[in-house]
Amino acid sequence: MRAIVFDGVGSPLREARVPVPRPGPGEVLVRVETCGVCRTDLHLLDGEVPIASPPRILGHQIVGVALGGALEGERVGIPWLGWTCGECEYCRSGRENLCPRARFTGRDIDGGMAEYAVADERFCFPIPAGYPGVQAAPLMCAGVIGHRALRMCGDAHRIGLYGFGAAAHILVQVARWQGREVYAFTRPGDTAAQAFALELGAVWAGSSTQAPPELLHAAILLAPDGGTVPAALAALAPGGVAVCGGIHMSEIPPLAYELLWEERTLRSVANLTREDAREHLDIAPRVPVQTHVTEYPLERAGQALEDLRAGRFTGAAVLVVQTDR
Ligand SMILES: [Zn+2]
Ligand SMILES: [Zn+2]
Repeated sequence: MRAIVFDGVGSPLREARVPVPRPGPGEVLVRVETCGVCRTDLHLLDGEVPIASPPRILGHQIVGVALGGALEGERVGIPWLGWTCGECEYCRSGRENLCPRARFTGRDIDGGMAEYAVADERFCFPIPAGYPGVQAAPLMCAGVIGHRALRMCGDAHRIGLYGFGAAAHILVQVARWQGREVYAFTRPGDTAAQAFALELGAVWAGSSTQAPPELLHAAILLAPDGGTVPAALAALAPGGVAVCGGIHMSEIPPLAYELLWEERTLRSVANLTREDAREHLDIAPRVPVQTHVTEYPLERAGQALEDLRAGRFTGAAVLVVQTDR
């Protein structure tokens, strides 16, 4: 099969022909239709999130058709969380996202930048009817992680989104559907992303260095820039929460205590649980979430990632691997 292979930090992604993987017990072979590109892939590429044993096939927003097993013929999504131990204190308390033995798709397990992938059947999710593969792929990480971050905001009415990429463009639709107000913060000068946010229903859009017109009840930080943390805390009303949604962030500058005072909270969201995936895939068609996607053929995975790094598209990028369209 064709695959995009990561050899190590500093090496460009390489297109290769590799054997089709064989499913073991409890696993399923999936014919990959599409695979979303995520900022985490950039962190893997750059070594900010290490890959223990390359070569590795990246990609953790996989949509494809299950071949064999209990899911035979179903269109399924495969997310970042690929396996958990089921035995540790985290697994046993509904927090499998924190399992110290967890294995992640596209980091510890070969991912979806290939014509076929193998996944543990218990970590595959039926894709809601009506979502073509291209539109469904961003739900699997941008959507699900965003969903988890939004839950950490409780019943916050005014929510700031720092970094208006793939996750934010889904989050704004869900938050609005829930009756909340969204304030979108972009890189300074990114008027395309600001216009996009307003089009999707944000009540305000501006630069991450600006103060919003009203104090926020919560903020979700999706940009990998630690400098947004003090800005987001400064935009919070007393009792507000700032949730860091990315797997990696540059260093957070020193914080004046007054930014945290009055019961403001600063926290992160790590990975996902299977419950998060089920909840998000249940809500998405009811909103209904419409993803805005820039498509790339599989062999242009490296270009898709560089375009993500440079902010050359709005919404999400998806690799089209094999489709019947
Ligand atoms: Zn991701
Ligand atoms: Zn565990």
